[in-house]
Amino acid sequence: MIKFWKKRLENPISTKHLELDSKLADLKKELKNKINKKFAGSLAIRMVSAGSCNACEAECNALSNPYYDLDRLGIHFVASPRHADVILLSGVVSVNMYHHVLDAYLQTPKPSYLITLGDCPVLEGVFQKNFAIKGAKSLNIKIFHHIKGCPPEPKNIIEGLLEFLSKLEDSHSHNIL
Ligand code: SF4
Repeated sequence: MIKFWKKRLENPISTKHLELDSKLADLKKELKNKINKKFAGSLAIRMVSAGSCNACEAECNALSNPYYDLDRLGIHFVASPRHADVILLSGVVSVNMYHHVLDAYLQTPKPSYLITLGDCPVLEGVFQKNFAIKGAKSLNIKIFHHIKGCPPEPKNIIEGLLEFLSKLEDSHSHNIL
């Protein structure tokens, strides 16, 4: 114990300075600007996990920590699809979750957008022709944007949301929605 306190008194700072990621800071700034422009400063996301391993959700949870702090950019994960602009879908879309995903999407105020998160929803091959899996395609909902990765890191999710907003801007400017 004496040894411990001696060390602490000699080195009072126990945490390292986080190396500032300037690219992340730029991404966040751009994201905030686009959310202000397209969603009046508040983008509400309803996460729907439809047969995932939960790693994609864990990465999304990290977005709320003080380092990424998405709340400050105006991005909120909401509990009800009725408050959501976007459905963020993860997982393979199992048979048991199929109707719940559809329900969630139908309850969102329109226009709303489906974004798939992680490789599971769009993965075919090993997940094809499985009695327990329907797949995202079977929902017959337009997948507006896909964020790839298994799982995507928080920074990839931020980049993915930025791409989604840019796509949205393009589609509005070309009137193709
Ligand atoms: S994409 Fe990968 S990490 Fe995400 S739910 Fe599927 S298996 Fe898990």
